[in-house]
Amino acid sequence: MSAYLDHAATTPMAPEAFEAMLPWVTERFGNASGSHFAARAAKAAVEDAREEVAVTLGCRPAEVVFTSGGTEADNLAIAGVDGVAVCSAVEHHAVLRPTVHRRGTVVAVDQTGRVDLDRLRRALTTARGVGVVSVMLANNETGVVQPLAEVAAVVADAAPGAVLHTDAVQAVSWLDVAALAAPAHLVSVSAHKFGGPQGVGALVVRAGTTVRPQVLGGGQEQGRRSGTLPVAAIVGMAAALTAAVARRGQVVARAMALRQRLLDAVRAGVPDVVETAAGATRTAGVLHLCLPGVDSEELLFLMDEAGVAASAGSSCASGAVEPSHVLTAMGIPAALARGAVRLSLGWTSTEADVDVAAKALVDAVARLRGA
Ligand code: PLP
Repeated sequence: MSAYLDHAATTPMAPEAFEAMLPWVTERFGNASGSHFAARAAKAAVEDAREEVAVTLGCRPAEVVFTSGGTEADNLAIAGVDGVAVCSAVEHHAVLRPTVHRRGTVVAVDQTGRVDLDRLRRALTTARGVGVVSVMLANNETGVVQPLAEVAAVVADAAPGAVLHTDAVQAVSWLDVAALAAPAHLVSVSAHKFGGPQGVGALVVRAGTTVRPQVLGGGQEQGRRSGTLPVAAIVGMAAALTAAVARRGQVVARAMALRQRLLDAVRAGVPDVVETAAGATRTAGVLHLCLPGVDSEELLFLMDEAGVAASAGSSCASGAVEPSHVLTAMGIPAALARGAVRLSLGWTSTEADVDVAAKALVDAVARLRGA
């Protein structure tokens, strides 16, 4: 029996999204930029989806810029605003890399992974001409939720001209993004994290904020992002978003119970397991653990062999597993961070998934420790 505990990487598509997309990958088609009847129908579908996305994210339809996903939305937010870029040390690489590329400022976090507000204030006061400040809503490795309202107050006070961006990619399934991201001028989302298809996302660009386009071409999305709009993907994202928001309360309650069950079972078999950011406000879907004396790559290999999909949460794009920048920023010792594993739940998770995963993890740790 297999178990999928990597919903933070990508979550299965919601039936509502699939049903909404089906006509647009079969009998219906058209380029939404054209002017004949097929193009007009495609455009109408995109505009209906835009309105649906706007309603669920608490913005106006004209403020939604469709992108190819979270990475592009983040890049547009950081690279598209003039001036110095500032971000927290635990941002996803889609924010961190463009910030570093622009020689921006990276602000430290505390031991629970929350941005240090005093240091943020100092960074904003010291740097001249801050253009954009980026602090994510929920972290992709640990699930830790940032105090965005407090961040917004510091930015408004210390760098009043700056634009606030929040990466809400990991938040949509778990938090009220419309309310929590309200103080941000720019908000990134990605469909495949909440039951929509891969390869589509959006950046909310509130009225009065301008972003310099990073993809130039036909001038779609009011000149903010060129490229033929993927009608089926956009329609699927809108349907998934509505469905995710509608069932959020129920999914959160179930995930919290499942996460506790998982933690209890792991603790019973591995008493020295360390739960990351245990005291912090976290999204219900993520259980991040550090297993002393264990190498996470070896652990994940054994868990995969046992049919369990999980992740270390850290980047290994180069092939060599690097220590997670998120855990390093939180001051977690390298020896402990080596044994990091992220078990993430979603709308399809069951007790059986959790039980299979806990057993596989406990067995793998025992094998690796040579018990
Ligand atoms: N931001 C966060 C917090 C993420 O977790 C991810 C994906 O893992 C991204 C951005 C990138 O999104 P996408 O996969 O849609 O490019």
